[in-house]
Amino acid sequence: MDNTNTKKTETTNFNNPSDWGYDLYPERKGSFKRSLTGILTGTEGNEAADRMRCEKTVYKCFKTGKLVQLMAGALKASGCEIDLRRHIVCEVCDPKVSGGYDPELNQIVVCQNSSKSEGIVHGILVHEMIHMFDFCNNNVDFKNIDHLACTEIRAANLTHCSFLSAMLQGDVSPWNIKAKHQECVKAKALESVLAVRKVTIKEALEAVERVFPKCYRDLEPIGRRVKANSLDAKRAYAEGYLYGYV
Ligand SMILES: [Zn+2]
Repeated sequence: MDNTNTKKTETTNFNNPSDWGYDLYPERKGSFKRSLTGILTGTEGNEAADRMRCEKTVYKCFKTGKLVQLMAGALKASGCEIDLRRHIVCEVCDPKVSGGYDPELNQIVVCQNSSKSEGIVHGILVHEMIHMFDFCNNNVDFKNIDHLACTEIRAANLTHCSFLSAMLQGDVSPWNIKAKHQECVKAKALESVLAVRKVTIKEALEAVERVFPKCYRDLEPIGRRVKANSLDAKRAYAEGYLYGYV
């Protein structure tokens, strides 16, 4: 992340909307304005075309993406069926983020300016759908940092780190993979918490450690973490592009 951590105070005031991530999504707050420099350099001014392309990619992921379909099925079974037009939006975001979940509106945001490939969009959708699933099933309060840490641990565990540990197969022994996988989940969850909340590294790390044992064990609804010497590894590798890492 950036170097703003040094300016952070010890405690966090969650009554301030910008302290829990909304400033990363300017369109959500209606504060998005085109800048003249952006238009002149060609980095802005294509919002409508970008949006259409992004919506097409999202649609394609729902048509063909296995993990997106699996998550959509799990959400439906939990009574929180996804309606593409209602629950998924393409928007211009702060370039620091690629996507997000807005619990107030129960919407997944795909950042059309930073997330353009199908693999990246698929990865975002699966990750954010895990948050949506948790919000639907587990009474998650996203303003509670322990709850946030838990759902980020689950998202990292089920997607990002499972794929990475599959890549490590062959280089490390099975028990080493286990340790490496846990390290990966902790690091990724910490990064995600810090990306969306103005908390200190210490506060975020403590939250991740507090809930880790419980949340790392919880594999709903994907139910598969990559194991050493199993077909899972090959399968995860084959699906790697879906997570946006190949
Ligand atoms: Zn997340």
